[in-house]
Amino acid sequence: MESSDSPNISTPPSNFLREIIAEDFRTKKYGNAVIQTRFPPEPNGYLHIGHAKAICIDFGLADEFGGKTNLRFDDTNPEKEEQEYVDSIMEDVRWLGFEWERLCYASDYFPRLYEWALQLIRAGKAYVNDLSADEIRQYRGTLTEPGKDSPYRNRSVEENLDLFIRMKAGEFPDGSRVLRAKIDMASPNLNMRDPVMYRILHATHHRTGDEWCIYPMYDYAHGQSDSIECVTHSMCTLEFADHQPLYRWYIEQLGIFPSQQFEFDRLNITYTMLSKRKLLQLVQEHRVNGWDDPRMPTLCGIRRRGFTPEAIRTFVAAAGVSRTNGSTDVEMLEHFQRDDLNRRARRAMAVLRPLKLVIDNYPAGKEEFVEVANNPEDPSAGTRQVPFSRELYIEQDDFREVPPPKYYRLSPGKEVRLRNAYFVTAQTVEKDAAGNIVAVHCTYDPASRGGNSPDGRKVKSTMHWVSAAHAISAEIRLYDKLFAKPDPYDLEEGQDVLDNLNPNSLEIVADAKLEPSLANARLEDRFQFERVGYFCLDPDTKPGKLVFNRTLPLKDSWAKIEKKART
Ligand code: ATP
Ligand code: MG
Repeated sequence: MESSDSPNISTPPSNFLREIIAEDFRTKKYGNAVIQTRFPPEPNGYLHIGHAKAICIDFGLADEFGGKTNLRFDDTNPEKEEQEYVDSIMEDVRWLGFEWERLCYASDYFPRLYEWALQLIRAGKAYVNDLSADEIRQYRGTLTEPGKDSPYRNRSVEENLDLFIRMKAGEFPDGSRVLRAKIDMASPNLNMRDPVMYRILHATHHRTGDEWCIYPMYDYAHGQSDSIECVTHSMCTLEFADHQPLYRWYIEQLGIFPSQQFEFDRLNITYTMLSKRKLLQLVQEHRVNGWDDPRMPTLCGIRRRGFTPEAIRTFVAAAGVSRTNGSTDVEMLEHFQRDDLNRRARRAMAVLRPLKLVIDNYPAGKEEFVEVANNPEDPSAGTRQVPFSRELYIEQDDFREVPPPKYYRLSPGKEVRLRNAYFVTAQTVEKDAAGNIVAVHCTYDPASRGGNSPDGRKVKSTMHWVSAAHAISAEIRLYDKLFAKPDPYDLEEGQDVLDNLNPNSLEIVADAKLEPSLANARLEDRFQFERVGYFCLDPDTKPGKLVFNRTLPLKDSWAKIEKKART
């Protein structure tokens, strides 16, 4: 969203982060400097809906106070980072509706971070350490036991400078030495027990190439990157709360701009796994069809599925911000998405599992057009003409030769309404040699055109249909939850989270029958297939082969849950 010229501070504070920023804005804590935030993804995977929360907080709160937000890639780990991820992250942030002030990379700060490391060495606040990674771990101690000083802790400044410069010059193999901050091996906070600042890694970086063979640790780079960008409010998830004292320590030792960190709860959603590492595994093991598989919680996945940025922003705002981690029902996300689509989606008729319906008393070869509203929620969406003829398709589920109790749809002798068209009464069925029903024969009442009979006769059911002669074929992909359990991490001993995948999360309907207007569907269009659900075109569509994704079925289980909670 565009940053407003006049910051709207009259908005009542609705969460603790907004209250803090409002107060700092009011008291001019940072003088005349604007509120500056940043969104700092590591480019080691695609963004997911959890990141959408961080994005809405970082960009949204800055916007409210006329501030600015940088997009900063925290690209300190050359082994896992790629340009593909950088590109996708930029696309996804924009898709959500936000634009950054500056595009930044932690890797742009490598020279400055290196100079600062030299400064800390000269001040006796950092040292080169030759212990192995295992030894460092042993020396670190535990939550209940203090750590032990490394035997290299008291190297002279000269020796440290010499070794660190030679580390950078590439004289030593990977893993042979690290640079550590000299803080306190007895600190109750393990992050303060002489944390590693630099490691040796002869790896090619996606931006700096082979220029560096030492790389800063995330914890050494992050706070100073905030400081370099004069970030006033550095917001991140709760797991970084224990790292905050370390970020502050570096900033204080270096005497640089005092960015302040604030932590909020991670977004967790039932039936949903939000870990980039595990999502990568799903992709690599072909458990899904790529990062943008519509079952994935990635922003590119839910976008392809037909979710809209408006609904995601509304959902994230409703899920709220707090200081304790919790879990949000996936039904709430679906509720906001349905709400949005109900308002904007064009209606259409599509039969997923077709059954032929023949109107015996309708003239063969005749065709007529019925006028149908494109969106009853939005008269400005207009109307369209839908062809009607003697042979139609209806859903197999909409006919029962022997109707169960309370079955109000079509069965022999029963009259129903074909939406916007006519009343029809089923008469006989046609079966194949195996006894399967291949067609239903019916009669229609020509006086009921438009869907009402002049004698005021009532029917209990209205069904969608498609004219067989005019129908177009499409593949339809129906999605269900990717995980079978509300908490995907609810595991038996020895199980992995991927063991909780729902084996039935994708169902492909190979040959659905659609009304002909859907031949002109575009990728950005959203549809409600009447009585079936919300759908959008999939990019796998090719000339002659339409593919639609079901965004969501119509049933709104969230509304039911809410209703139940109220009573
Ligand atoms: P993951 O756990 O999926 O690997 P991450 O935290 O390692 O995520 P980053 O690229 O470091 O991924 O995240 C960028 C920003 O997004 C961070 O500020 C992080 O706190 C925030 N973030 C990540 N996951 C969530 C989540 N589930 N809810 C809210 N914010 C999140
Ligand atoms: Mg991270």
